[in-house]
Amino acid sequence: MRIFRRKRCKIVYRSEYFSAIHAQNTHKSFDVMKFKKVRDQLIKEKLIRRKDVLPAPRISDEDMLLVHTKEYLDTLKNPMIIGKILNLSYVNPWDEYILEYFRYVSGGTVMAAEYALEHHFSVFNLGGGYHHAHPDRGEGFCIINDVAVAIRKLQNLNKLNNTLIVDLDYHQGNANLLYFRNEENTFTFSMHANNWDEISGKNNNIDIELPSYTSDDKYLKILTSELPKVFRVFKADLVIYIAGSDPYIKDTLGDFDISEGGMLQRDIFVYRETIKRNIPLVVLGAGGYGPESWKIYFNFIKWVITKGK
Ligand SMILES: [Zn+2]
Repeated sequence: MRIFRRKRCKIVYRSEYFSAIHAQNTHKSFDVMKFKKVRDQLIKEKLIRRKDVLPAPRISDEDMLLVHTKEYLDTLKNPMIIGKILNLSYVNPWDEYILEYFRYVSGGTVMAAEYALEHHFSVFNLGGGYHHAHPDRGEGFCIINDVAVAIRKLQNLNKLNNTLIVDLDYHQGNANLLYFRNEENTFTFSMHANNWDEISGKNNNIDIELPSYTSDDKYLKILTSELPKVFRVFKADLVIYIAGSDPYIKDTLGDFDISEGGMLQRDIFVYRETIKRNIPLVVLGAGGYGPESWKIYFNFIKWVITKGK
């Protein structure tokens, strides 16, 4: 039997990530098994043990209110409203589980950020990265802005000064960009498709739009030249990497042409940029659609566990 051989990262997950959403298998694109597949494969290949997984807590109302309005949170008591944001084809009007899914995954992001800062570690949440959730409304499959809540909570506890959000999801992290637009201590770096709101006016921001069918070469060339510039001008105490797998060529929503190997190169590059500067890292699964999407996140975690340095 192979031996568990490293502690280079921690995984945050909880069975509710799956159990709370599997009944909602009515979405056309999102594989509700995605993050459970990642977790199961990590265990199957003996890359992690069950006890090495940090169990995500359910996010509290108090924490959600750090970012979201009470009026908006009240609307989430109606599953039909959530179903609309998630573009579900069917919603049981009495079903409270959809919100529960988001509450646990968002609690996982907060926990990941706290753990990463406290233990100076890389922590992977098997989900999270809801970068389209605004304080007063959800959109684009995003209900609770886990990233903004985590940052705000740690700032309020005086545990965090400067945060760099590296958002390589196929879609622009428009809600994060807007929410932090007047804050000098949160830098937003994003490479995304030209299919979301155009927002300008933030100082600490690099926002790069890429065309359809962007290839490995072009994508990686831009990433490897632009991201290091951020580290030169902004001293991050924490990096939150929104590692959406939807730039992958086999993604069923995105239209970039990034190969499986290219996706891994992307993730390794971001990882190394933080590790070599000794900055705690939180990685969030974020978007990614279709039956093969889970492999991209799995490949990244496997690489960190077996080779990461
Ligand atoms: Zn996306």
